[in-house]
Amino acid sequence: MVEQTQVIVVGAGPVGLMVAGELRLGGAEVIVLEQRTEISEESRASTLHARTMEIFDARGLLDDLGAPANEQMGHFGGIPLDLTVESRFSGLWKVPQTRTEELLCSWTTALGADLRRGWRVSAVRDDGDGVVVTAEADGRTRLLRAAFVVGADGTDSTVRELLGAECVGESATRELLRADVVGIEIRPRRFERLERGFAVAARNPAGVTRLMVHRYGCSVGARSGEPSFAEVVRTWHEVTGEDIGRGRALWVNAFDDTSRLLREYRTGRVFFVGDAAHQQMPSGGQALNLGLQDAVNLGWKLAVGLDGTADELLDSYHGERHAVGSRILANIRVQTELLLGGPQVESLRRILGELIAQEQVRAHLAGMISGVDIRYPAEPGSHPWLGSRLPDLPRVAATAAATPREGRAVMLGFRHERVAELRTAVRPWSHRVEVVSAGPDDRVGDDALLVRPDGYVVWAGSEDETPSAGLRRWFGAPRSVN
Ligand SMILES: Cc1cc2nc3c(=O)[nH]c(=O)nc-3n(C[C@H](O)[C@H](O)[C@H](O)COP(=O)(O)OP(=O)(O)OC[C@H]3O[C@@H](n4cnc5c(N)ncnc54)[C@H](O)[C@@H]3O)c2cc1C
Repeated sequence: MVEQTQVIVVGAGPVGLMVAGELRLGGAEVIVLEQRTEISEESRASTLHARTMEIFDARGLLDDLGAPANEQMGHFGGIPLDLTVESRFSGLWKVPQTRTEELLCSWTTALGADLRRGWRVSAVRDDGDGVVVTAEADGRTRLLRAAFVVGADGTDSTVRELLGAECVGESATRELLRADVVGIEIRPRRFERLERGFAVAARNPAGVTRLMVHRYGCSVGARSGEPSFAEVVRTWHEVTGEDIGRGRALWVNAFDDTSRLLREYRTGRVFFVGDAAHQQMPSGGQALNLGLQDAVNLGWKLAVGLDGTADELLDSYHGERHAVGSRILANIRVQTELLLGGPQVESLRRILGELIAQEQVRAHLAGMISGVDIRYPAEPGSHPWLGSRLPDLPRVAATAAATPREGRAVMLGFRHERVAELRTAVRPWSHRVEVVSAGPDDRVGDDALLVRPDGYVVWAGSEDETPSAGLRRWFGAPRSVN
């Protein structure tokens, strides 16, 4: 028997969970297949950036996150960088990845996603009209069919492998060893560059010290599994001269500087998100944040695309997110060079440090790392916000916040007389778009703004301009209204 659904998400890491929640908000039936039986307890990403926090806020997820520590000071390749941006969520927020996954898991399942743990996907076949997925669970082989599949199955993506989707970029040449250690005092080190290598040590409130160490010039070892703690102890000693052998490792791993991007984020009816689409060194928490924002870009588009009238919209996922991924991977490669390069990068670091001291350069890098400077290709028009996220101006954002919780787009009307007209124009898309009267606002400049469910402004109009073309472009064919 082949089980039918609308969308299958392969992988319930943070990105798969996020895309499943977004699909449910868009009204799609979703099955999530995950090979693990439990949420991973691995020590992985620990940072959420401003744009991700804005999205979590729009979805009403922040109350359950508690009060994570917030810091304005981040880094660019180890050079201190003030991450202050124009956002209520400026800076970086310390949230262990396990916590993010628990939060997204509760949200997604409460919205009705059918999450199946212990299901391992072994085959994927796109027959043009749909995709058949084979999964192994409880010692049995199951078949499922959906209109679309999302490959959210991480850096060693099975879906990518099965479809032969091509990744391009650079293979690893260097690696960083990492360990979470208890039972020993280790002097804190923030991106310390020493004669022989680079070392970081930061103790968290629970008394666990996270170490990272790299010996300059040391290439990637041939590994069949994670490194041993003895290897970390040896490298730490070579780089810092300190003996940490009396400590006990809770976790040890190695990550390298692979930098690869899928050539196409879409293969027919299969879409890739998160680490399945891009492999990068997890510098400054960008890997996780990049993936979560892929998910929020794709989820609503797939839900709209289920009626078969929005192929161009579906293609815009690759157009928008591949460009963002490519830019982030470029900044990560520069940072990797600055961090892991030996004495030969000292002059570069010095000059870059001088540049970062200039406000324009600081703001440019902070905007890129925090994700608030993203600008997608937009409709023709001169409004300065077209293609950008709706700025986090308190009143405009508060008015718009009424609907993103339900994942709907918002048509904001800034002139009372115009709102009735907008309601009439939007009625054929009222299942996707909510008209909200936002009152006059000098900073907006136009009478009306159309904001997508992921928060980006895609249309701005005055007086006699009708939004119909924009609505059709972004939300598919109109529904007939009586
Ligand atoms: C050791 C390590 C340290 C890291 N440190 C940082 C950091 O400090 N900062 C940072 O930003 N990022 C870090 N990352 C990266 C970050 O964890 C990832 O970017 C993030 O997890 C990506 O989420 P994802 O959902 O795309 O993939 P994943 O979290 O990898 O989730 C993929 C899911 O798919 C499942 N899956 C795979 N194959 C199948 C299959 N065939 N069938 C069913 N399910 C399948 C997996 O079990 C997994 O649950 C680190 C990663 C690692 C491995």
